[in-house]
Formats: sequence, C-alpha cells, structure tokens
Amino acid sequence: MKVTNIKFSNLKKLNYTGITEKNKELKNLTTFRVGGRAKLYLEINTLEYFIKVMTYLKNSNLNIFVLGNGSNVLVSSLGFDGIVIKLKGDFSRISIRGELLEIGAGVMLSQIINFTKNKNLSGFEYGIGIPGTIGGATCMNASAYDFEMSKIIKYVVAYDYDKIIYLKNEDCKFGYRDSIFQHGKYIILRVGVELKKSSRHEIENIIKEVCEKRNISQPLGTYNAGSVFKKKDNICVSKLLDEMGVKGLCVNGAVVSNKHANFIINKGNASSEDVINLIQKIKNMFFEKYKINLELEIKLIGEFNEIDR
Ligand SMILES: Cc1cc2nc3c(=O)[nH]c(=O)nc-3n(C[C@H](O)[C@H](O)[C@H](O)COP(=O)(O)OP(=O)(O)OC[C@H]3O[C@@H](n4cnc5c(N)ncnc54)[C@H](O)[C@@H]3O)c2cc1C
Repeated sequence: MKVTNIKFSNLKKLNYTGITEKNKELKNLTTFRVGGRAKLYLEINTLEYFIKVMTYLKNSNLNIFVLGNGSNVLVSSLGFDGIVIKLKGDFSRISIRGELLEIGAGVMLSQIINFTKNKNLSGFEYGIGIPGTIGGATCMNASAYDFEMSKIIKYVVAYDYDKIIYLKNEDCKFGYRDSIFQHGKYIILRVGVELKKSSRHEIENIIKEVCEKRNISQPLGTYNAGSVFKKKDNICVSKLLDEMGVKGLCVNGAVVSNKHANFIINKGNASSEDVINLIQKIKNMFFEKYKINLELEIKLIGEFNEIDR
C-alpha cells in the first residue's frame, strides 16, 4: 500500500494528543539540518495512541522511520516516502527505583545526566555531549570514553509491530554501533538501566572534563551528525582521515570539519547530494590509500543515489 492510500483523516481522528502533519519538513528535526519532507509525520504522546496507530498501520507495508533527536541521520533532499514517528509526552518520562531507572525512549541523554547527577547516580556522565535520545542511543549502542549504552542497559521494552515485548540486555544483540533495533524489527518504548551510587562532586568533575575534551576536539555549534564513518577493526578512522588531509575538503555546502576529520559540517545550504558526494570522495581516497572500505555510522533516510555503504 502506498502512503497516499492511508486515510489521513482516520489517523487524525486517532490522534487526540499528538501532532499529525502531512509533508513535514524534516531538516529542522535533525542536527545536520539537511533534507526534504516526509509524507507523514506523527508525534505520539501516549502508549494508547501508539498502539492504535500501529494497529491502524499494520499490514500496510509502509515505510516507518522512528526519529529520535535526529543527531545521527542524513535525510535525503528528495524526502522520505513514508511515515516518520517521534515519541514524546509519556515517552519523555523517567521513573526511578533505587539504582534502577526506567526511561522513556524520547528522553534526551542530557536530561538523564542532569537527573542522575542530582540523585548521585553514576553511569551516564561520560556520555555528556551526545545529543541524542535514549531510544536513539540504545539503537546505535552509543558510546564515548567510559560510557556505552550496552554496559548499563538491563532491559528494553519494545514494540514488535504486533505486541509489546520485554528484551533483556543479551536479547538486544549489542555490538559496536549495532543492536537488534537497527535491523527493522522493533521500536524502543522504554529502556531500563542500572546505575551505581557515586558522589555529585565526582560526577560533576567527569562532566566538566568530558565537555572540555569535546570542546577541543569537536566542531560544536555547527550543523553536523557526529562521526560519519565507523571505526574499523579498532583502527581510529578519524586519525587516518586527518593524516590523509581531508580536513577542509568540501562539496558545495558540505565541508569536512577543521577540528575533527570524521565530522562533515553543513555550512548552511548543503543538500544531501553534497554530503553524499563528499562522503563518496572520502571513501574513494581512503580505499585508495589504505585498501579499507569505510562504513557509514550515520543512518540515511529516504532515497539516495547508489552509494557503497
Ligand atoms: C556533535 C555530535 C556528537 C556526537 N557524539 C557521539 C558520541 O560520542 N558517541 C556516539 O555513539 N554517538 C555520537 N553522536 C551520534 C548521535 O548523537 C548518537 O548516535 C545518538 O545516540 C543518536 O540518538 P538520536 O536520538 O539523535 O537518534 P536518531 O539520530 O534520531 O536516530 C538514530 C537511529 O536510531 C533509531 N531510533 C531512534 N529512536 C528509536 C526508537 N525509539 N526505537 C527504535 N529505533 C530508534 C533511528 O530510527 C535511527 O536508526 C554524536 C552526534 C553529534 C551531532
């Protein structure tokens, strides 16, 4: 079934709390600020509505993309011929029992860090500066310094296009920037994490130290989506990219950061084609020099010309 066959009015009727928009511009929902429109955009605030929408969409064969904070994605300038879902409202809540937290998929890591700091709970502080939701961070198994989602997750409550299920850490099949959630099956609703007691002073020191490091090494305040390429066999790709001299390399509005060789910045007017052409250029240079095929860390949404991912 094509998206155009979905009765927009029916979805609107179901949607008593959230936002339902046709032809939604996506670029402002991403940190890259690149890309076109989605056929449909749904902001879902309650589990009840989520289930109703999913039941309505069941068997529709539609492309559904769950967007977190859009900090690891590149949206095609041609847009996305499907439904983009964003979890808000009830999915933005944190509940706590001792050192166990259950966190709604739409909660930003920065909010969690603030919350846990005030409760003297340690586990997220090294993740400061990752501008994503816990849903996105779980899907990506985000990590930085001493932080890795897979190390603190106890369980994930997810939807498998039929029912709500409970996945233990080992069921999530976490790997480097990988999890079962990247393979099309589940939507993360809530994440259960286990933290450790610490002192506020110690947590604050770590936060300060990591913020300083990020400030020195990353082009903060620019439009980007973090590291473009994955590490390869534990090889530090950004160091090799730097040695290859890619900093400053550009295609129209897309340019490699002068601070971090694995970050591409949108100067303000870049199209997704500019970004992809720059990516392809870097991949070709890298392959020629190191005979290694770089893999994308960022997720592509929508249609793109053939690119070796
Ligand atoms: C300046 C900057 C610095 C960064 N630093 C780091 C870093 O140090 N370490 C690191 O690992 N990453 C880093 N990133 C990348 C990014 O922030 C992380 O991957 C983040 O966890 C993505 O979260 P998000 O909510 O933005 O997800 P999105 O970008 O919106 O989505 C990413 C993926 O998660 C999926 N997803 C989102 N929510 C759900 C859900 N509820 N259910 C199922 N799937 C879902 C999406 O479909 C998509 O496939 C950085 C990015 C930027 C811009």
